[in-house]
Amino acid sequence: MKYYDYLIVGSGLYGVTFAYRAMNAGKSCLVIDKRSHLGGNVYCEKLEGINVHKYGAHIFHTNNREVWEFVNSIVPFNRYTNSPVANYKGKLYNLPFNMNTFYQMWGVTTPEQAQAKIEEERAEALEQFKQNNPQGIINGEYQPQNLEEQALLLVGRDIYETLIKEYTEKQWGRKCVDLPAFIIKRLPVRLIFDNNYFNDSYQGIPIGGYNKLIDGLLKGADTLTDCNFFDCQRTYDPQSQLFSVQGATLDIQCRRIVYTGALDEYFGYSLGKLDWRTVSFKTRTEDTPNYQGNAVVNYTSHDVPFTRVIEHKHFEMFGPDVYACPKTVVSEEYSVEYQEGMEPYYPINDERNNDLAAKYRELAEKEPGVIFGGRLGQYKYYDMAPVIEEVMQAEI
Ligand code: FAD
Repeated sequence: MKYYDYLIVGSGLYGVTFAYRAMNAGKSCLVIDKRSHLGGNVYCEKLEGINVHKYGAHIFHTNNREVWEFVNSIVPFNRYTNSPVANYKGKLYNLPFNMNTFYQMWGVTTPEQAQAKIEEERAEALEQFKQNNPQGIINGEYQPQNLEEQALLLVGRDIYETLIKEYTEKQWGRKCVDLPAFIIKRLPVRLIFDNNYFNDSYQGIPIGGYNKLIDGLLKGADTLTDCNFFDCQRTYDPQSQLFSVQGATLDIQCRRIVYTGALDEYFGYSLGKLDWRTVSFKTRTEDTPNYQGNAVVNYTSHDVPFTRVIEHKHFEMFGPDVYACPKTVVSEEYSVEYQEGMEPYYPINDERNNDLAAKYRELAEKEPGVIFGGRLGQYKYYDMAPVIEEVMQAEI
């Protein structure tokens, strides 16, 4: 029976970053994953020489210099800058909302003209809501009654109807008038010509793809795929403070378990099931070197059923390299209702799920020798950089 300091359940960014830190501290690690590959949701599949983001487009971005230098020390990152485009009934608009968008929408050429147009539309919306629903005025201020009203008060009718309304309805599967106002807190508008989606100081994609980052972080660790933690027998001996874990393909002892699978599943769903939102992808190869000229195109009207089309090569190929690769791979993204057996992607931030997750977290705190980490293990949406930050602060 082999001994490890850590058994790490899940080879996503949390698990593999933990393994890297633990090994640097002289600890031994076994990383297992129930999937047939390592890397969790950042895993890429090679098709036509292109790294395809199998579980959804992943763009690394952060303001944290330490995190940026850390990931670049494992594999250098490229200069990819996320600048999505929106397609509304065949007409294209730059995102996020900036002077390019306002020129495309209204033909305005100065920040002053753009600002005046937005203010005019916001004022029109406010006037209309006050007239139609005087009860909505509290302490002299109109309170938006739903997401539609909130968006109209923030950016006015043209931007809302072209770029927000139908896209949001596709995402949520519900009408904007039936969605709560709090979903949209801010809708930043930029009065400069700047299509860079993120405000962070650093962004990019690992050169050679995310699998290189995963392989680099796992260098020296033992790994096992197709191994579901719950198909294993485990016992904990409080005296020696050792776990014994036995499965079809493993037979080990370990001092601690880092668990990055689903929080409710660990406890056998004893308090009930946590809900998730998910996305499905239809991926195909196109016989052209350049299908849409951009990595991300959002489809903001109801005419098309998908929300986005991702053209994967643009994450890593620039300039002449795009044409040196004769084919391309695109994925349509669909928002779908989560059902058993689907990939659990986004935790649901409502009262029932927040309360239930808090109860499970209390149980987790009492579990001896087990660290619950990551998106599934904490039932919390994390971007990649915060996951790494979290592991950097973990006690090894
Ligand atoms: P995961 O990557 O989910 O890894 C968990 C692993 O645990 C999985 O491999 C799973 O198979 C394994 N596992 C679960 N249960 C068991 C079990 N019982 N036994 C064995 N193994 C098990 N972040 C960004 O910064 N930028 C982006 O552009 C971005 N885009 C995203 C798009 C989508 C659609 C989603 C869902 C997330 C996106 N993220 C993005 C977030 C990013 O994916 C996460 O921050 C990151 O993957 C979290 O890593 P993790 O290790 O917590 O989880």
